Amino acid sequence: MIGITPLEAWIRERVRLDSELTGSAFLEALKVYQLQRVNETIDYARRNTAFYRHHLASLQDLPLSDLSGLARIPFTTSSDFADNPLRFLAVRQDDIAKIVTLRTSGSTGEAKRLFFSEADLELTVDFFHHGMSTLVQPGQRAVVLLPGEKPDSVGDLLLRGLQRMDVQTLVYGPVTDPLHAAEAIASFGAHCLVGIPTQVLAVAHSRAGVAIGKGSIESVLLSTDYVPQTISQTLEEVWGCRVFTHYGMTEMGFGGGVECEALDGYHLREGDLYFEVVDHETGETCSDGETGEVVFTTLTRKGMPLIRYKTGDIARIMPQSCPCGSILRRMGRVRGRWEGAVRLGPDRVLTLSDMDDALFRLQGLLDYRATMSKGGDGRFRLHIDVHGSEVGSPTDSEVLKALGGLDTIRKSVAVSDLEAPTVRFSAEGRWTTTGASKRKIIVKSDPPG
Ligand SMILES: [Zn+2]
Repeated sequence: MIGITPLEAWIRERVRLDSELTGSAFLEALKVYQLQRVNETIDYARRNTAFYRHHLASLQDLPLSDLSGLARIPFTTSSDFADNPLRFLAVRQDDIAKIVTLRTSGSTGEAKRLFFSEADLELTVDFFHHGMSTLVQPGQRAVVLLPGEKPDSVGDLLLRGLQRMDVQTLVYGPVTDPLHAAEAIASFGAHCLVGIPTQVLAVAHSRAGVAIGKGSIESVLLSTDYVPQTISQTLEEVWGCRVFTHYGMTEMGFGGGVECEALDGYHLREGDLYFEVVDHETGETCSDGETGEVVFTTLTRKGMPLIRYKTGDIARIMPQSCPCGSILRRMGRVRGRWEGAVRLGPDRVLTLSDMDDALFRLQGLLDYRATMSKGGDGRFRLHIDVHGSEVGSPTDSEVLKALGGLDTIRKSVAVSDLEAPTVRFSAEGRWTTTGASKRKIIVKSDPPG
């Protein structure tokens, strides 16, 4: 029996909807709430931030009479932050409780800064509290493998959410030594783990991780921009646990959506965020079921409201209702990012998620880094650095065979758009140890000397 997502009752309460409302009447009432909040956010952002005062200066016919009216509003992109993040600030700097600095790998090399007020952070704690109740029960123990040293860091906010449901929590932090982390998890007696996919995989493949065996860890929450399916499957096999995924990014206030027991797509934080999926090229709204780019608008954010923020993440709204019985809409698992996808030829785009599906299947492969460059002859070169497990790593030929199993790579090599990929094994496996970093194909513009 699949339990209904706790987010439904939470959203009902947060949005103060009549408990009598069910089915489509509930969804309609939720839309009325969201429309009202979208209009308030537009008004608030235009009055209080320099960026939106200018960005939305020519916007007419407000307030919007329907959520579909959002299509008239220009997008906000990540590069808008780079110039001057203070232009997004909607409260006095004194009222900012938390500033998050994200290092971007873009050409400007500038850091992105995000501002949250105390009230913004409280909403995130509240979401974590209710979202986590799918995974862990009062009286159980959880280990958080996310950064948590600083007050109001993601690990700290999660700790506060878990404490509200009487879950004993160890904030271990990011994994740099998988063996040590596995020992800490075992001695704490964790029922639940929260971490970054490649890091949790490394823990599971360490000697101490394997020794944990099945039956003690009941649930794992993998949190990042997207989760390779094959990592979830491996963790289920090693620990016999259920693997949930959380979708979130710092810009969302860390939390965006979380899977229910059906483990098939995220229910979203509908009270605080309004999500759209749009065509990556044209910006037009996708219909349910169609894959596009995820865009969101904050509904309750005070420090730094965001309107139609383009996430770069590839996903779709699932058209069918959820097996858990909730009428809340679901977003399918994020399939990767537009950024860093490489077009090798007509109809041949190589994405990191394609490579993830092929490579994380390999026994003992813990992480890898893909670098694409272009030679003087105009042909692409793909190099893979592989980090393998201490208890046995895949061979070069296994990695190359897995890559060759991808149509995009095989066809591109066949027509000479791509040279045969090269592989190197590396002892250094710390490419993804910072919680904020996003995995992607590294594209080098200069031909290697
Ligand atoms: Zn569900």
